[in-house]
Amino acid sequence: MSPELDELYQEVILDHSRRPRNFGELADATVRVHGDNPVCGDEIHLAVKLGVDGGLEDIKFSGHGCAISQASASLMTMKLKGRSRAEIVTMLQAFHALVTEEAAEAPKALGDLRLMQGVRKFPQRVKCAMLAWRAVEQALRQTVGEVTVSTETDLMA
Ligand code: ZN
Repeated sequence: MSPELDELYQEVILDHSRRPRNFGELADATVRVHGDNPVCGDEIHLAVKLGVDGGLEDIKFSGHGCAISQASASLMTMKLKGRSRAEIVTMLQAFHALVTEEAAEAPKALGDLRLMQGVRKFPQRVKCAMLAWRAVEQALRQTVGEVTVSTETDLMA
């Protein structure tokens, strides 16, 4: 990344980790996922309300951990709220490619999330960036109830 982008990346990460969006409880959640990244100590509690068509009507998160994990969750909830299931799956794949594949082009649809490609340079931070996304992926699979996912069990699967 250019120095300008690097600076913007830092700014966006800090802003979202200090003032996370869609942070808090969701009383009428249909599914709750607790995401755990023991390597870094990050925790995300994701509450999701799925519509009858499987779309994401509402999403909130709480938790604690490093700036990357919290900022990624905050940016993700902003991006995914109101999206259809198919759109979310597409975003998930695009974001995963963005943070793991050297050559991946960042699709415009990812918006500010494109700045997260900086974690490519720090492989141990990829789990931090992916934690909230793993949780939302599990929420779509689960559709109802409460479940826990860990970045470590994902790796062994
Ligand atoms: Zn972390």
